[in-house]
Amino acid sequence: MGRSVKKLMCILVVAVAAGASCAPGGDSADPGGDQPFDVPAVGRSAADSPAGSPADDAGSVVDAAGSVTEADDPDTGEQTDQETPAASSGPPETIDPAVEIEPAGGDVRALLSPTGVLVGVAGELDGNYVVETPCGHRSKVVWGQPLGDVQVVIDPGHGGDEPGAVSGPTEEDPDADVPEMTEAVLNLRVARRTAALLADRSITAVLTRNGDYRIPIRQRAALADRIGPDVFVSIHHNTPNSAPSPTPGTEVYVQSGSDVSKRLGGVLYEDIVAALGQFDVEWSSRIDAGVLTVLDDDGEDAYGIARYPQTPSALLEVAYLGNPKEAVLLVTQDYVDAAAEGIADGIERYLTTEDPGAGFVDEARVFNPSSDGGGEDGCIDPPLQ
Ligand SMILES: [Zn+2]
Repeated sequence: MGRSVKKLMCILVVAVAAGASCAPGGDSADPGGDQPFDVPAVGRSAADSPAGSPADDAGSVVDAAGSVTEADDPDTGEQTDQETPAASSGPPETIDPAVEIEPAGGDVRALLSPTGVLVGVAGELDGNYVVETPCGHRSKVVWGQPLGDVQVVIDPGHGGDEPGAVSGPTEEDPDADVPEMTEAVLNLRVARRTAALLADRSITAVLTRNGDYRIPIRQRAALADRIGPDVFVSIHHNTPNSAPSPTPGTEVYVQSGSDVSKRLGGVLYEDIVAALGQFDVEWSSRIDAGVLTVLDDDGEDAYGIARYPQTPSALLEVAYLGNPKEAVLLVTQDYVDAAAEGIADGIERYLTTEDPGAGFVDEARVFNPSSDGGGEDGCIDPPLQ
């Protein structure tokens, strides 16, 4: 690690980790070495913001329209809207991929930028970290909060100009009494609450996305692999509406040919369905709902979250936002709490037991996506600092 990077990290360690020592020029403060500090489970808080950073005002954030809204409650994950990280600059400057960079010292694999964006560390250049932006470009950041060991990477699906499934009145039915919600917002709510519950159980988790911006699927997978967690869980909600069902139509997509991904999916499926069982609602479900592999005509995993990462992954379609009757429930905090509880239970059980899980559908579903969904074209990075 370059001296100036190390010095900046020393300042940061002192700022964020009470009790961390940082002798001038010493190696003991290397945050990526033997002193990993707490991984923030949810968004930034004033307490973990370095002095003078744009995150000082983390009690409020600037939304995409430039107006200031209250940040979510870190204990409940409750929030009224997605937020774009507060920033002192526009999209980050990119570095030509041909520029040679040095390996980053201290085994720093990822860091939280001052604006709360999680980025993978590719190396260092001129004493600054070179990171991979959400859109997959290289950029320098002056400082950030390096992650220690991470057990779980949680991926709130969609974001930015890709809202995912949407509920609310439609052109055909403008007076419909259906709450307005996007999947991107709902996924982030559930993801934040899940991370908070895992933190309560001393399981370290980070989110691939902690605001309203796009991350291509390949970048989500690359970020997870760079961090090297035990599991990578992507949270989604389904559409269009399916057939009425007395039980939730939860679907979990796992990696074909991977026993560990299958077991992860099996325990998640059991615990999510159990957690949702407390609600009396007319669910919707496909006939082959359960723990599935979804393959294209070439026999490859159809979804990038299953196909790209080396890390054992599972993609959750927790419930149907496309079902107006479910949407009424899905916008409530009770639902967010229950879904997150089920996901956290499943992750904890995967990490601490050999339970095989259940809900496996023998026959693979065949699906050929018309596009890669979550691609790189037109991707605009959020400000990193
Ligand atoms: Zn989705």
